[in-house]
Amino acid sequence: MRAASDVPFTIGWHELGDGAWAYLQPDGVVGLSNAGLVVGDGASLLIDTLFDLKLAEAMLDAISPILDEYPLTAAVNTHANPDHTFGNQLLPATTEIWSSQAGAGEFDDYPPEVMEAMRLQGMPTLHSFNFAEVVLRRPDRTFHGVTQIDVGDTPVELIEVGPAHTKGDVIVYAGDAGVVYTGDILFIGVLPMMWEGPLRNWIAALHRIIALKPRLVVPGHGPVTDTVGVRSVLNMFYFLRDAAELRHSRGMSAVQAVEDIGPEPFDGMLESERVLNLVDMIYRDIDPAHTIMDHPEANANMSRLADLWTSKV
Ligand SMILES: [Zn+2]
Repeated sequence: MRAASDVPFTIGWHELGDGAWAYLQPDGVVGLSNAGLVVGDGASLLIDTLFDLKLAEAMLDAISPILDEYPLTAAVNTHANPDHTFGNQLLPATTEIWSSQAGAGEFDDYPPEVMEAMRLQGMPTLHSFNFAEVVLRRPDRTFHGVTQIDVGDTPVELIEVGPAHTKGDVIVYAGDAGVVYTGDILFIGVLPMMWEGPLRNWIAALHRIIALKPRLVVPGHGPVTDTVGVRSVLNMFYFLRDAAELRHSRGMSAVQAVEDIGPEPFDGMLESERVLNLVDMIYRDIDPAHTIMDHPEANANMSRLADLWTSKV
């Protein structure tokens, strides 16, 4: 039985035991997401398909001896963000792709041509990817709430926990192996973006992961962890909720609140400037009339914070 600390955070597939695998992409920042595989009797299930075709191809090639023996009968997109779905087109036509109903409704929010245009306009975080050849492949099957897929004789539960990170977040529970694949409900070592919220749903989703008592937890970004890692993210969210509520009550703007909180609470975490997005979204939880910053304004503020905070270190 492998413990989380036995699974190195190196690029590639890692066997987790009892038919469960994780594909990790250090260091987990923008676009470097994880994938998973659950292998049953004569069949397998893929969880998420990475950000572009080159990455997805490398991921699928590296596990092809297993896939030859245990054909990919199903796949799950934990949510619609391109870094979890743009490899869908490389899966066999016979592979049924699942997502939540709400998640399926978000696929057209991130068209490959728009992502490629953003990349070509010089968005630095997208530079190393390529979306020119991506053709959106939408889910074949959707569900609402909880559903079970049988991977050969191995039951796997899909549990809808959104809206939180996006509208349609799903976690995947491979109970026989004691592994939860969280998609972007969990980032380890990297601050997450909250595209949808509310935070209380996200907190409930993390509690739900802990309640499953998993042996191992594969986050959407970052190294394999266990419930200790889930609790540390929960604590970070509780801290942020209290810190944001206090500053909101004092009349500070989201930007002022984040400048006041400072980078120290996120020491050692990548993309710490995303705290601005989190605080902005928590402000809307507190006051539904609060206007969320638009993308250009949020991005400008986040890169200013990133510069300010890295120069301090
Ligand atoms: Zn992601």
